[in-house]
Amino acid sequence: MDLACTRCDLCATRTQVVVGKGDEHARVMLIGEAPGKNEDLGGAPFIGAAGQVLDEFLLAAGLARDEIYITNVVKCRPPKNRNPLPEEIDACHDNLMEQIASIRPDIIVALGTFAARQMVGIDAPITAMQEQIYKRSIAGVACVVLPVYHPAATIYNRSLKGVFMQSASTLKELMKDPLQE
Ligand code: URA
Repeated sequence: MDLACTRCDLCATRTQVVVGKGDEHARVMLIGEAPGKNEDLGGAPFIGAAGQVLDEFLLAAGLARDEIYITNVVKCRPPKNRNPLPEEIDACHDNLMEQIASIRPDIIVALGTFAARQMVGIDAPITAMQEQIYKRSIAGVACVVLPVYHPAATIYNRSLKGVFMQSASTLKELMKDPLQE
């Protein structure tokens, strides 16, 4: 993608565009919300506190970071880590679709509300979507979407950690038969 992108106002405050990281032919693609402070400075997704929780999730699912691909709905940091605005999500939509079309994952793990809503196409709360499995065709790619709680949410609300880690077991099972055939 365009590293000098100016499609939305986040270009004025970001340090850099955080495109994504990992295996560009991964079977499993994880999609978060937006870069935070560490990611904006470091140039890679999930390298701060939420990234440590994500690493626990990946370990439980039997996956290493270099076997998956991780990106975000929005590629630039919203000021003070506020939620991305609808117009920012829309402006970045084509970037995400291009990544999905190129990586062609079997499984998309949607981390949190924003990714889940965009990937599932339902305007529901993450509480209702998490632990459900949705068959979708996204950017011409037949895949399943597994919405899970955002790793950062498990830091603020410790009671979500158990169910978040349970989703790692679901992912591990899903990898055995991704398209549920
Ligand atoms: N939270 C996200 O949603 N994405 C990151 O890259 C880091 C924190």
